[in-house]
Amino acid sequence: MQSVRAEWTWTGERFERDVTVEIAADGRISAIGEKLAGEAGELRNAALIPGFVNAHSHAFQRGLRGRGERFPAGSGSFWSWREAMYELVAELDADSFRLWTERCFREMRASGITSVGEFHYLHHSPGGDDFAFDRIVLEAAAAAGIRIALLNVFYQTGGFDKPLEPAQLRFRTGDPDSYWKQMEQLARHLDSDRQSLGVVAHSIRAVPLEQIIELHDESLHRHLVFHMHLEEQRREIDECVAHYGKPPSELLLDALQPGSSFTAVHATHTDARSMRRLLAAGAHICVTPTTEANLGDGIPQVEHLRMLPRQTALGSDSNARISPFEEMRWLEYAQRLVSETRGVFRDAGGEVARSLLASATIGGARSLDIDAGEISVGRWADFALLDLTHPALEGVSSDSLLDAIVFGASEELVLATAVGGRWVEHRTPWQRG
Ligand SMILES: [Zn+2]
Repeated sequence: MQSVRAEWTWTGERFERDVTVEIAADGRISAIGEKLAGEAGELRNAALIPGFVNAHSHAFQRGLRGRGERFPAGSGSFWSWREAMYELVAELDADSFRLWTERCFREMRASGITSVGEFHYLHHSPGGDDFAFDRIVLEAAAAAGIRIALLNVFYQTGGFDKPLEPAQLRFRTGDPDSYWKQMEQLARHLDSDRQSLGVVAHSIRAVPLEQIIELHDESLHRHLVFHMHLEEQRREIDECVAHYGKPPSELLLDALQPGSSFTAVHATHTDARSMRRLLAAGAHICVTPTTEANLGDGIPQVEHLRMLPRQTALGSDSNARISPFEEMRWLEYAQRLVSETRGVFRDAGGEVARSLLASATIGGARSLDIDAGEISVGRWADFALLDLTHPALEGVSSDSLLDAIVFGASEELVLATAVGGRWVEHRTPWQRG
């Protein structure tokens, strides 16, 4: 049993003063109140918030940072970036894959992220068919102390009715039966306090529709979340219309009846009608603003997400940048730039930062089906502790503290994080530095 009492604690709607959070030996929050037994000393000048939930990541792509940002042959695109990513894949053996993955997870945790949904498709050793890299992801997450939903990717084709390209052979999963055998193997190795599994069909390009339906049905049967890349690129939509006669979102809406366990990642070029249908069905939309900007993907139509922060999740995706603070504000800023208005993600009370924080915590936790994202009794004790003495927050009043954090600061505020009540300090507090 331990307790934490920060000067300010985010309790869901606002920062409250002098709140004590009690953590049971099992790593879950057991009580929240003003006066509790066994109380800790107050952490002055610190704010406790739920740890961020990063709902979409490809951790090994951290190895691309700083690469592919020059364009001597003219402008690039998602597709030219993908060639660079395949070059990185060709370089990775078990050791370098583990190094980049663990490094990435450690950087996430230092930025305040306590849970990650790792959309994992690089399954095999070079030249192999061994699924050896699946366990490495779990081991790297354990070493970094981050909670993980391993979103294990089914990957079958190199395009509509096309065989895999040589660079994609290490992603292949065979038929659904062998995929489920591997999932069962992985389930036996999970640390049930911090690790879970989710089902993924990589994209409409990489999995034939019949197999998407089969995987989705089985995910419902096994009570596992189901994630899928959706309509990140116009080319994918054009090819899908040519092949199936409908855009991917419409095809899936008609074939799957996606519900609350379904997360569409990106939905960059999804039209308003499909977006409304997905959300009405309870599905989640995961936006990855800094990656979508870096790749030049485009900006999703999100007006239907505005009042639904719990169905909106955020992801660091390519990990070109790891900052939940930037993801939050760029979700809003991209919309401001295209709409020439401010306050796009405002809630019923007109507050924007509160919605963005809800997406970066609760929305992600719901998308991954993990008991995190909120400081409330029964949830995991997953927190980020923020430094209120940092110069970025100088002169900020307590009633605009969250707005200042979301729009005016970044991960330099993160003093420490806890996952299941286990704390890691990330840097010396500003006043001691
Ligand atoms: Zn992705």
